Amino acid sequence: MSITRLTAIVLAAGSGSRSGGAMPKQYRMLGGKSVLAHSVAAFLAHPKIDEVLLVIAPDGEAETRAALGTLADQVGFVAGGAARRNSVGNALRLLAADPAPPSHILVHDSARPGLPAAVIDRLVAALDKGAVATMPVLPVVDTLIDAPGNVVDRSSLHRVQTPQAFDFKVLVAAHKAWTGPEEPTDDAQMVRALGHEVMLVEGDAALEKITLPGDHERMERLLTGHLISRTGMGFDVHRLEEGEELWLGGLLIPHSHGLSGHSDADVAIHALVDAILGALAEGDIGSHFPPSDPRWRGARSEAFLRFAAERVAARGGIIDHADLTIICEAPKIGPHRDAMRARLAEIMGVPVDRVSVKATTTERLGLTGRREGIAAQAVATIRLSTES
Ligand code: MG
Repeated sequence: MSITRLTAIVLAAGSGSRSGGAMPKQYRMLGGKSVLAHSVAAFLAHPKIDEVLLVIAPDGEAETRAALGTLADQVGFVAGGAARRNSVGNALRLLAADPAPPSHILVHDSARPGLPAAVIDRLVAALDKGAVATMPVLPVVDTLIDAPGNVVDRSSLHRVQTPQAFDFKVLVAAHKAWTGPEEPTDDAQMVRALGHEVMLVEGDAALEKITLPGDHERMERLLTGHLISRTGMGFDVHRLEEGEELWLGGLLIPHSHGLSGHSDADVAIHALVDAILGALAEGDIGSHFPPSDPRWRGARSEAFLRFAAERVAARGGIIDHADLTIICEAPKIGPHRDAMRARLAEIMGVPVDRVSVKATTTERLGLTGRREGIAAQAVATIRLSTES
């Protein structure tokens, strides 16, 4: 059966912290984004994946959205169950209720953040060849012994990874048919119990599961070791006018004057966007959002910042840090500093401790000193893949 709609289910309902750390491992930061965000981004970026459905803890949507940042609006959510089988089952029931359910399905464990596009390619190729079930495996290279110390023949053994891919109807049938009593360790086991063959494709070392203390740090080195650091700077000025709204650093700030310009004229965000685009060497804000384009008249500048952050993510990069200086006599920035940092961090999808906001005056000299306008400058440090 040919692939007409391919849905990726990502299991992220776990509360386990066996790998160390206070929070569930799928929410921990790994090279600039959460463990969960890595595999979600890999699926969203793959042209063969039509949609991503996340299975989350029943009360975990807010925490999951925070861990996903800007990716949260591009995925669906369903509440998980008591065991892995129940969690996948909930997702399958939701999809089966759709008038046009998926033809095929991938089931992935969010604790395996290093998901190469090549593994998805191999699974899709296996489905295209008619496999009803397929999964990535790696050979066992270490010598294996049993408890008495006898060497076990490893030639027929494999280490099983996810995502595992299935014909949707076959997986639904396997879930319905499973009677236990024991819980299956994965979906392939359930499909095999129905008598289906599971085609094996080559896995990837980057797909190792984060399970034990030390795994997280090892995965971070693996996923970010090839990235190189780049820095960009940005500068902008907008005119202050009476009666305009003052949008600054993503906030609407009460003030007698506001900034005028084609968009909301948020000079701080504009400087920051140019800093990120500069680090990417992808032009400037004017080349992406020209003032001549009526679409950007009165537009909220946070859309420009979200775009810049998404460009970094699209090139496999990380925003390491952003430092912003706002130059004006008034209003006072200090009382708004922390709210501004939080808002900018939220828009860029990074932790707040990676965003700095500073302010200065020009001792009443020049255009900012005469309160004719507000200026802002920004520096952004990002890490980018050498291959992008
Ligand atoms: Mg501007």
